[in-house]
Amino acid sequence: MLEFHKQKPKNPSKSDPEKRIKDFQEIYSQFDNKTSVEQSSRCSQCGVPYCQIHCPLNNNIPDWLKYIAENRLEEAYQVSSSTNVFPEVCGRVCPQDRLCEGNCVVEQAGFGAITIGNLEKYLTELAWEKGWVKNIEINSSSKKKVAIIGSGPAGMAASSYLIQNGYHVDVFEKNDRVGGLMIYGIPNFKLDKSIVERRTDWLTNSGVNFHVNKEIGKDLTFQDLEKDYDAILVATGVYKARKLDIEISNINNSLPALDFLIESNKVGLGDTPSSNKYLSAKDKHVVVIGGGDTAMDCVRTAIRQKAKEVTCLYRRNKENMPGSAREVLNAEQEGVKFNWLAVPSKIISEKSEASSLSYKVATLGEADETGRRKPLDTGIEKQIRSDLIIQALGFEPEDLNSHFNTDLELTSWNTVKVDFKRFQTSNPKVFAAGDIVRGASLVVWAIHDGREVAKSIHQFLQSNQIKKAS
Ligand SMILES: Cc1cc2nc3c(=O)[nH]c(=O)nc-3n(C[C@H](O)[C@H](O)[C@H](O)COP(=O)(O)OP(=O)(O)OC[C@H]3O[C@@H](n4cnc5c(N)ncnc54)[C@H](O)[C@@H]3O)c2cc1C
Repeated sequence: MLEFHKQKPKNPSKSDPEKRIKDFQEIYSQFDNKTSVEQSSRCSQCGVPYCQIHCPLNNNIPDWLKYIAENRLEEAYQVSSSTNVFPEVCGRVCPQDRLCEGNCVVEQAGFGAITIGNLEKYLTELAWEKGWVKNIEINSSSKKKVAIIGSGPAGMAASSYLIQNGYHVDVFEKNDRVGGLMIYGIPNFKLDKSIVERRTDWLTNSGVNFHVNKEIGKDLTFQDLEKDYDAILVATGVYKARKLDIEISNINNSLPALDFLIESNKVGLGDTPSSNKYLSAKDKHVVVIGGGDTAMDCVRTAIRQKAKEVTCLYRRNKENMPGSAREVLNAEQEGVKFNWLAVPSKIISEKSEASSLSYKVATLGEADETGRRKPLDTGIEKQIRSDLIIQALGFEPEDLNSHFNTDLELTSWNTVKVDFKRFQTSNPKVFAAGDIVRGASLVVWAIHDGREVAKSIHQFLQSNQIKKAS
């Protein structure tokens, strides 16, 4: 260990932009054994592990790095997977620069962070290859039944811990595939779908019952679940697209980001392309509005669909973008243009089709409540050609209570109100986790919530059993 002053930080190679835009494959390669041992040995094993503190899952990173450095790889995997059910997913999609790696003491000391994400990916892929990922061992048996609504990372993670405690677990998913935004939001070039499908098979083989094409509130009522199950977990995510301030309702070639990404992911999974011509970027001048990771996924998808030109319009500057710097760099390398300090003002259209977008050039004023500087109008207006406009302005919760015919207490943001220790809602039998309680967040937080809510449901069901017996 402590080799950070001799060994430079290394990441696996990334495919060349000209090559990688030809398909949707993941762009990063993987460490080999020698490099992973060498890179892990850079860890300083510091007394206060900031990497672990800043990991939502509190992963015991220094310990598994030490095991890798000593080539004790199966033990390393056991430590890593003891807190995280999907480490290979986190290794690929976590914003490590803001979490573990960004807070690494070696990084703070100026030697460059330990490349934790790529080591996590290497280790877990090796575990699959070597057969160390075993079906979940069931610790005890129970006649109690738990219904989970939504099969995203929160629902999937919770199902794994509940099955371990012997419960009968049914996961209801309105889509035709399991995985939530890991399947239909995040593009293949960041997270190959086979990685998610492998985990779905693992959960199924361990005893979780997935029911796809079953929307609660439509195909089955929430009240059916209340009757048939001892506890219910709501893990439905947030999907209502935030709207632009300008009139777009009649414009056919202006879409919310997820409509575009879902179609692209479906086609990538082998589904027949939709007959809706507005869902493809091919041969078009595409303008994506927004500066977060969803916007970066859209621009990079449009490039791969062979758009003529792809421009990202963002109202602040590069330094104030909410998205990960790594993703902005990837997009720039792939040929995406960025119009910083651009605030959309009007769509120029004919017969319900946009031909260009007007935007006001902004300058930055004081910081707002989010800590980022506010865009101010300079009075200058410009136009950009756009035959496909994609809005990537973030997501809000839908009206859950009216869909479920329930009266769960909500927050002022319309997320489901829970106390963040037990994830229990105002109905004691109903729990909630993931984006539906946090608002649009991260996969790693959804996995965290799934783990914690499963403990809480277990405690709830056990204490009910004790109450009944006494
Ligand atoms: C385009 C995009 C890219 C992203 N990229 C990243 C990234 O790189 N890294 C990262 O950490 N995070 C990323 N995120 C965020 C991350 O995907 C989410 O925070 C995470 O998936 C939330 O997990 P969840 O389980 O709460 O919800 P979801 O993943 O949204 O899953 C909810 C599931 O519930 C289902 N459902 C909803 N209502 C019902 C109902 N009534 N009945 C049955 N099923 C229902 C939905 O169909 C869905 O499958 C991205 C998000 C988007 C949109």
